[in-house]
Amino acid sequence: MPTITLQHVTKYYKSDGRKVPAVQDVDLTIQQGEFVFLTGSSGAGKSTLLSLMAGKVKPDRGRVCLDGKDVARIPKWRQQRNLLKFGQVWQEPSLVRRQTVEENLELVGLIGAPEQPGPSHSVENRVRKVIGLVGMQGYEKKYPVELSSGETRRVELARAMINSPPILLLDEITANLDDDNIWDMFHLLTEINRGGTTVVMATHASQYVNLLRRRVVTLVDGHILGDVSKGRYGEIM
Ligand code: ADP
Repeated sequence: MPTITLQHVTKYYKSDGRKVPAVQDVDLTIQQGEFVFLTGSSGAGKSTLLSLMAGKVKPDRGRVCLDGKDVARIPKWRQQRNLLKFGQVWQEPSLVRRQTVEENLELVGLIGAPEQPGPSHSVENRVRKVIGLVGMQGYEKKYPVELSSGETRRVELARAMINSPPILLLDEITANLDDDNIWDMFHLLTEINRGGTTVVMATHASQYVNLLRRRVVTLVDGHILGDVSKGRYGEIM
């Protein structure tokens, strides 16, 4: 099962013709099965760090490795397989508006379908399973516009889980949700993590981070300032 390792990772973005670091000299190892909160103020580098882990952006310096293999050096033909290791939910709404919940899930489920799926691995079966996992039975034929923000986030999580990835990367998945929905989401993620899935989650939901007491990595100006097991929100030692 994959371990994520970042070694001296730096990522710059260009702003007004200048190179501005979003993540600076980050060393971080996340073992399979961990539950990690990424905290820090807006602009601290949380999303960039998640994108680096997923291989969505490449580091300007340093290495991002999955089980010791440098993600940047994975040949193109194997990148698809590598992507299947990550379930991802990003800040921007991403369901296809003209497709139903079921069709949205099938679309991603097909990418991870084994060449000769047995009945339990068929896409239909996996769609049914993840819809059950996130408690969205009865919503299969609905369109994204008919869903509340909490329901939309659940469907996005179901889509992230459909290929049973070993790692979940989540960026502000509870932003704009009310307290009940936030709590349900944290509960669900705890259950998923209990099943062995690594969860790495950028969040501002301090109250829930403090209740759950998992590993808390705090970023300030692209640097890791704190990395505390069973930590509290923003705790640095
Ligand atoms: P956070 O998720 O903690 O809010 P981000 O990783 O989104 O932080 O951003 C870190 C820094 O990088 C910020 O200063 C932000 O403005 C900058 N940044 C992020 N993405 C881009 C981009 N695509 N182009 C230019 N600058 C970016």
